[in-house]
Amino acid sequence: MKIAILGAGISGMALARFLEQGGVPRSSITLFEAGSVAGGLCLSKTVDGFTYDVAGGHILFSKDAPAMQWMKDEAGGDEAFVQRDRNTKIRFEQEWVHYPFENGIGDLPKQANFDCLKGYVEAWHQRKVTGSEAPKDFKNWIQWRFGDGIARHFMDPYNEKIWKRPLEQITSDWVAGRVPDAPVEDVLRAAVGIRTEGYTHQAIFFYPKQGGFQGITDGLAATLGDRVRLNTPVTSVVKKGEGWSVNDEDFDVVVNTVSLTYVPDFVKDVPDHVAKAMRELEYNGLVTYLIALDRPEHPNLSWIYLPQKKQGPANRVTYMSNYSPGNAPEGKTSFLVEITTPGGQPFPGPELEQDMLQGLETAGLLRRDEVLFIDRSQVNHAYVVFDHEYAERRRVALDWMEEQGLHPLGRFGRFEYDNSDQCVIKAREKAAEMLPSLLG
Ligand SMILES: Cc1cc2nc3c(=O)[nH]c(=O)nc-3n(C[C@H](O)[C@H](O)[C@H](O)COP(=O)(O)OP(=O)(O)OC[C@H]3O[C@@H](n4cnc5c(N)ncnc54)[C@H](O)[C@@H]3O)c2cc1C
Repeated sequence: MKIAILGAGISGMALARFLEQGGVPRSSITLFEAGSVAGGLCLSKTVDGFTYDVAGGHILFSKDAPAMQWMKDEAGGDEAFVQRDRNTKIRFEQEWVHYPFENGIGDLPKQANFDCLKGYVEAWHQRKVTGSEAPKDFKNWIQWRFGDGIARHFMDPYNEKIWKRPLEQITSDWVAGRVPDAPVEDVLRAAVGIRTEGYTHQAIFFYPKQGGFQGITDGLAATLGDRVRLNTPVTSVVKKGEGWSVNDEDFDVVVNTVSLTYVPDFVKDVPDHVAKAMRELEYNGLVTYLIALDRPEHPNLSWIYLPQKKQGPANRVTYMSNYSPGNAPEGKTSFLVEITTPGGQPFPGPELEQDMLQGLETAGLLRRDEVLFIDRSQVNHAYVVFDHEYAERRRVALDWMEEQGLHPLGRFGRFEYDNSDQCVIKAREKAAEMLPSLLG
């Protein structure tokens, strides 16, 4: 059996390793990778001794302990990682607000604290009294769930920055289960200054000591060796008998982790309506800036959110040098700034950098005379956008892929909001599903 895996990000490489660990000879697996380095969205970059994650700050954490341990083991074991406490805040005016926002409203200036508490209680009361159902669009869902104050001061401006479109165009389905339902008592406590916690599963995280988050995919790539064909974009996938021809080479099985939006470009004879559904799946891109700083120490923060317009286009800043001592030279620190862009459109030019710096200065995060240099990266596919057509387009795309036997896998191979640990979990499941027929 010859197996082709399209794309050597963490999904593709984890699948290859799970197949091998399940008994498939490594020599029967081939990974096609367009890039010059394997790793996809997990890639990192080092410039003058400063390391950053190209697709925004990445941390290793998982509710699935065996999956997380597997990731560590594939990348050198526990000793190759540092453990960190998660300490995230929201920057609001010149205040640091505890995260999540509803657990931190007591840190806000008094008027904003009052607005948020009043709105939260009104929304809570309204839901209890009327039993109203969750609205289907994200804009109205925010009002229904959090009330006017949190919507106005945080949720609306923050989400408009991330999603780059009116929030009415986004469905509220995707938040179900993602945004924990803070009990009203916790919000009342928070408002008067009694500390309450949220998101406890992320309280600690791990990060590779060296090489940035890419340390994880480097571990996988090193084991897979020449089974990963770098600089080898897939340009044609054609059905051939019971199997497939990939770039004119025969394979029995194909697993695709490349974005569904590109599938009609290289898979032959995709029906028009399926190709349309695939191409119209919406996503956002991302521009990241590493800011190398001549500053010996940062406060003990992991990352911060910047909800306010006057804080510039950035939605999140990671304290990259706090993740690992390997991320900056001794006595220096760094920020990693994230700015989303509408998918499929040209990336903004150099003016974006000036807006970003101006915003960070306004937020009181840096002075320009501390900046040693700035390095920019960008990724085409960063966030799946959950617009109202998302579920149907995705269903059409995935049904067709499954029907053809072109196994879809990965964040954009399945168009799911998956972190790398979930990519690993799904690769493990995919391997378990495939192994009986591969070994049979
Ligand atoms: C802003 C941001 C923050 C994140 N934070 C975290 C975090 O803190 N923790 C975490 O665990 N995860 C995080 N993630 C998610 C994580 O990056 C992804 O889930 C994971 O990297 C996706 O891996 P993948 O292999 O599915 O896809 P990808 O990494 O996209 O891999 C697809 C591969 O296919 C290749 N390819 C594309 N076209 C072709 C072609 N024609 N032929 C051959 N190859 C091709 C690409 O080069 C790429 O290597 C974050 C993501 C983003 C965007």
